[in-house]
Amino acid sequence: MQNNAAELKVLVVEDSKVTLKVLCNYLERVGIKPLTAELGKTALEIYRNEHPDIILLDAQLPDIDGFDIAKEIRSMEKTKDWTAIIFLTSMSKDEDLARGIEVGGDDYLMKPISEVVLKAKVAAMRRLVEMQRSLVAVTHQLNVANKELQRLSTTDGLTGISNRRMYDELSVREWRRCERMKKPVSLVMVDVDNFKLYNDHYGHQAGDECLKQVAAQMKRAAPRPGDLVARYGGEEFVFVLGETDADGAKWVANLLRQRVADLKLPHAASPLQHVTVSCGVVSVVPAEGMSLDVLMQSADHALYQAKANGRNRVESGEYGLVNSTGGN
Ligand code: GH3
Ligand code: MG
Ligand code: MG
Ligand code: MG
Repeated sequence: MQNNAAELKVLVVEDSKVTLKVLCNYLERVGIKPLTAELGKTALEIYRNEHPDIILLDAQLPDIDGFDIAKEIRSMEKTKDWTAIIFLTSMSKDEDLARGIEVGGDDYLMKPISEVVLKAKVAAMRRLVEMQRSLVAVTHQLNVANKELQRLSTTDGLTGISNRRMYDELSVREWRRCERMKKPVSLVMVDVDNFKLYNDHYGHQAGDECLKQVAAQMKRAAPRPGDLVARYGGEEFVFVLGETDADGAKWVANLLRQRVADLKLPHAASPLQHVTVSCGVVSVVPAEGMSLDVLMQSADHALYQAKANGRNRVESGEYGLVNSTGGN
């Protein structure tokens, strides 16, 4: 937890009442009203509740050793909660000082403590605390930006559904998952009928609006969390339906086809007079020697059949039955 930028929360842990009083006076003279503890147990409790920025920690306390307190604090704190620990010590052996730093101390003060030195150290720690706070703030901003970038890189800008990149990634994952589970995976290729005529008649912007409406119906038709709905490219969309057999996939495709037709979006240039879609559906249980590419080509072929048979239709095909002359 971060404290207000202006205020610095300081905890003084010292069992000698006299030293404690002196330290508090020094700190108050630089505008800091410290929290205090005379026992290690109390110090840990205050740490948990108050998250101080700086702890002046007596190395020798009646209940818990100061070094053990520092260790405990370091094990409890999260990266964003960094607390500066300054040991108060009368030990003069270098090894003892080194041990203090090793267990998580940041600095030390020799007793008797000089006011000037204490102020200097608190000022230095204040700078570190402030740097750490801005680092936490920048890290947070970076995380937010990264999440947004991730979203943008997997979402189609116009329709808000998954883009081709996401489709490429997730369709392979779903194919492999169904292969492991020996369950069917279905692909539904969707293409807006006579869309070139729509653009020519109503303009590109109206065309974009129309694609948004179709995408919204796509989402509605396959609401299961595992279903993938993506814009494959241009005016083509795709459903990847894991653990769904041909009947289930045809049902989803027909639901979409019907709902788009029910929108009754005028399409004066189309023989059908309204915006409609055609769908090609293929379902298969993936196994060794089969490929997602062939499944896609087969769905594309079924879509081609739907176009050839008059549009505003759902046609189902078979895995491996592909169009030798190319798709739509
Ligand atoms: P069919 O019924 O056989 O699918 O005929 P179609 O006219 O829909 O097929 P075609 O592939 O010839 O035309 C697709 C059109 O989709 C052409 C292209 O200008 C348009 N298109 C592709 N992407 C977009 C887009 O993002 N916005 C708009 N407004 N139009 C697009
Ligand atoms: Mg002591
Ligand atoms: Mg089309
Ligand atoms: Mg097309």
